[in-house]
Amino acid sequence: MKGLQVAIDGPASAGKSTVAKLVAKRFGYVYCDTGAMYRSVTLAALQKGINVEDQAAVTKVAQAIQITFKPGEPEQRVFIDGQEVTEAIRSNEVNANVSVVAAVPAVRKEMVAQQRKIAEAGGIVMDGRDVGTTVLPDAEVKIFLVASAYERARRRFEENKQKGIATTTLAELQAAIERRDKLDSEREVSPLTQAEDAIRLDSTHLSIEEVVDEISAIIKK
Ligand code: C5P
Repeated sequence: MKGLQVAIDGPASAGKSTVAKLVAKRFGYVYCDTGAMYRSVTLAALQKGINVEDQAAVTKVAQAIQITFKPGEPEQRVFIDGQEVTEAIRSNEVNANVSVVAAVPAVRKEMVAQQRKIAEAGGIVMDGRDVGTTVLPDAEVKIFLVASAYERARRRFEENKQKGIATTTLAELQAAIERRDKLDSEREVSPLTQAEDAIRLDSTHLSIEEVVDEISAIIKK
């Protein structure tokens, strides 16, 4: 049986990728992290010394690089032209620049085309900002996952501490997350917004397990 297309969108650090990966595992679906693709373009541009405001140069990077995923624990491994960048795409520098790169229309066009190709066979859980609205408007299941900005920053802070990643203060982390949400919500092409037919889930007071169970129940309906 062909699997469903499941779209999970929402603001930064709402737990989308953790939840999406577990849901995919439960149903034997493929998981695709669209944020990792925009992060990869950003990292490649920064490595080439390109100013991220230079839309033509950033677009060339998006069109030229090959982004691939491989299964891995605790997170999916990401490669740019065969080079592993799983950790490098999560740096503070990439965090600070990715929303500018993701606002470039030609970059989005390129990424959306690749994402549709990955999803066309079904049996996919895809997380991002515009999956339910733009990438897969016909997805059978659409979730909009939210949590308070404080809770999102707190979770990311704890995660960074556990992973030994250098982090800023909790307040600075929250400010950076809110800045990224603002840029993602206010951009002209495919801004972060809930699809009309998406189900909104607030995970502020829910565990990962509870969110995964709720989404699984929606998929089984
Ligand atoms: O999901 P993640 O936080 O890794 O996404 C990083 C950035 O990539 C977002 O802040 C947003 O600017 C961009 N993005 C996007 N559309 C998507 C996924 C991510 O614009 N579908």
